Amino acid sequence: MKTIRDVNLEGKRVFVRVDFNVPLDEHGQVSDMTRITAALPTINYLIQQKAKIILASHLGRPDGTKNEKYSLAPVAKGLSELLKQPVLFLTDCIGEKIISTVNKLANSEVALLENVRFYAEETDNDEKFSQELAKLADAYVNDAFGTAHRAHSSTAGIAKFLSPCVAGFLIERELEFLGKKTANPEHPFTVILGGAKVSDKISVIDALLDKADNMIIGGAMAYTFLLAQGHKIGNSLVESDKIDTALAAIKKAKEKNVQLVFPVDSVATDHIDFANRTVGTTQIFGLDIPDGMSGIDIGPKSVEQFSEIVRQSKTILLNGPMGIFEIKESAKGTFAIAEAIAQNREAISIIGGGDSVKAINKSGHSEDVTFISTGGGASLEFLEGKTLPGIAVLDQ
Ligand code: AMP
Repeated sequence: MKTIRDVNLEGKRVFVRVDFNVPLDEHGQVSDMTRITAALPTINYLIQQKAKIILASHLGRPDGTKNEKYSLAPVAKGLSELLKQPVLFLTDCIGEKIISTVNKLANSEVALLENVRFYAEETDNDEKFSQELAKLADAYVNDAFGTAHRAHSSTAGIAKFLSPCVAGFLIERELEFLGKKTANPEHPFTVILGGAKVSDKISVIDALLDKADNMIIGGAMAYTFLLAQGHKIGNSLVESDKIDTALAAIKKAKEKNVQLVFPVDSVATDHIDFANRTVGTTQIFGLDIPDGMSGIDIGPKSVEQFSEIVRQSKTILLNGPMGIFEIKESAKGTFAIAEAIAQNREAISIIGGGDSVKAINKSGHSEDVTFISTGGGASLEFLEGKTLPGIAVLDQ
């Protein structure tokens, strides 16, 4: 796959799809700049290369209508401060007026288009809309990993009408870590999966059983596996219809000689109030949880066992929390595993998107891991081995 390093973009109008889907506070100001900061290496490089930079993104779900609440105007302001140069905010993303404005851009100037999802055609990957977007530019750069698993006009459709089409540095890094480093890992390679559902992650389990030496399953997902092996799981969150799926994964792990590890103990409670972030009194149980109690976190023995495996690993991939980490009483397991990963400085540690990123940030160890993915769904689909539409359209 070609990247911005491989092409000469001097003087060219370059359409850059970024992920500026940032949270806004009650005053409509950007409350977390992480995603904007993440796009800076690509934007700064294009500025140095004297390209004319036209940035495009979505923000929220305006559902195909122009809605000021989802305007990218506050992002232009934040970006301009970070770049230390003006960012020209355009009040639309297609049309004659916008075309004539971008045609007047000087080299190294940066413009930001209004939210592409103000048009329903964007998510429909409508060919005419893709063509309208393409009229703004000569070349295409995709640096929005978080939406690369969606075939939309600005993430995929537009590429048909522009050349060259290359990846930015953010996508390059995602592929390096989620792709190369897990495809040919340094061994032992430990995969730690958690979260709510086996059904969401079974394709990832299946794909990674071909590569891992150890696979640790925590979170609510573990209860489906424990039930499949004849344990009592009380009222824990479970997918009873996925017992066969769990047994098939256990069988595959044996065939592939992968050490598949489940919690040997759980923190459990008789009451969970997620809305108010509280639980009833908690108790630790071993492999069996009595009726009326729900497992909400891995227990101390499991923490110790999982941490020991982490300490002996050379490559570690984490996807999904070990318990209900949003509630203090059931966050310990997730944070302890995050800490064990952070403390293994010898290993390449990869945090695979979504809730795991929130958990690692909350644990205070985000600076101590090798790579944190910017994609939730995209990172899962990529790890499953799927071809992401936003990457498939780039020049090889
Ligand atoms: P996922 O999106 O599949 O990665 O799931 C993340 C969610 O799983 C988080 O919101 C956690 O609170 C939840 N979760 C993890 N462990 C448990 C558990 N033992 N019981 C209920 N929910 C859990």
